[in-house]
Amino acid sequence: MIVVMDLRATEEQVEAVYKRLEGMGFKTHLIKGVERLVIGAIGDRKQIQNSGIEIMPGVEKLVPVMKPYKLVSREVKVEDTVIKVRDFNIGAEEIIVIAGPCAVESREQLLETAELVAAAGARAIRGGTYKPRTSPYSFQGMEEDGLQLLAEAGIKTGLATITEVIDEKSLGLAVNYVDIIQVGARNMQNFQLLKAAGRVSKPVVLKRGLSATMEEWLMAAEYIMSEGNYNVILCERGIRTFENYTRNTLDLSAVPLIKQLSHLPVIVDPSHATGEWRLVPPLSKGAVAAGADGLLIEVHPDPVTALCDGPQSLTPDNFKILMQELRAVAQAVGRDI
Ligand code: PEP
Ligand code: MN
Repeated sequence: MIVVMDLRATEEQVEAVYKRLEGMGFKTHLIKGVERLVIGAIGDRKQIQNSGIEIMPGVEKLVPVMKPYKLVSREVKVEDTVIKVRDFNIGAEEIIVIAGPCAVESREQLLETAELVAAAGARAIRGGTYKPRTSPYSFQGMEEDGLQLLAEAGIKTGLATITEVIDEKSLGLAVNYVDIIQVGARNMQNFQLLKAAGRVSKPVVLKRGLSATMEEWLMAAEYIMSEGNYNVILCERGIRTFENYTRNTLDLSAVPLIKQLSHLPVIVDPSHATGEWRLVPPLSKGAVAAGADGLLIEVHPDPVTALCDGPQSLTPDNFKILMQELRAVAQAVGRDI
């Protein structure tokens, strides 16, 4: 249920409603939009309807939220969520490009990539330090040493930093080093991890699960938000279908559809979606045209020797060309890059 407060409600009135809801055992969330202030109250709908909240001073109305996801929903918050990271915003006019290697492999590899992607216009450097690999014999990541390198790359270049966490331990470490936390496709329904990510103060990129429906994905975001972290960015990275000429199938319909259902920013990862670097530029352009708020692109200084995901990684030169081409597409849809 959402309690919509009157535009003229005083702070005391809001506080009184808040206290009453908490006293009744509801979990409450204050959601401040530009046009209205609402209190999301999670709990038994009937109880709230019979509680007299509706006639408290400052309350305009009670509105039930019909969707199973609540805080994530456009019903609860009409305006787009804009997430501030360092000196840029995700979900505003600028399309944010996050680029970097699949995995942090060495200081040279990461710093070189960071400098080149920064020069081409990326806003954030990515790099896996805890890698959820299909095989236990594949490179598993540099762990905390890699986190330190990411932090160094962020300081040297001014780029924001992002890395994937795979459990509560890696989450606890990563928050000390990076600006944005990533929950990967394989952990989209790791509910304990989602709840833990909901208790940190860093924005979270939540990738769509390997074969998750939009509703499952939005419910995963709800887990994070229900713990109080409202800074969630949804990332479409392809889903598993019968097609095996590509690694996954990029579901671009997710972009406009999620934007109808939710106020959260949506970004697209064409690298994991396709598994093939040649497909990354055209799908990046398609994603921007479809309304994505950002892109997450794998770039490696020498894809041939990459320890992870070389075939889908762009060289820095190809990334630079793509960034130039993307500017025209962004402009055509009223955005900047
Ligand atoms: C990644 O971004 O490196 C990654 C493993 O992605 P996904 O979770 O989408 O497979
Ligand atoms: Mn990868």
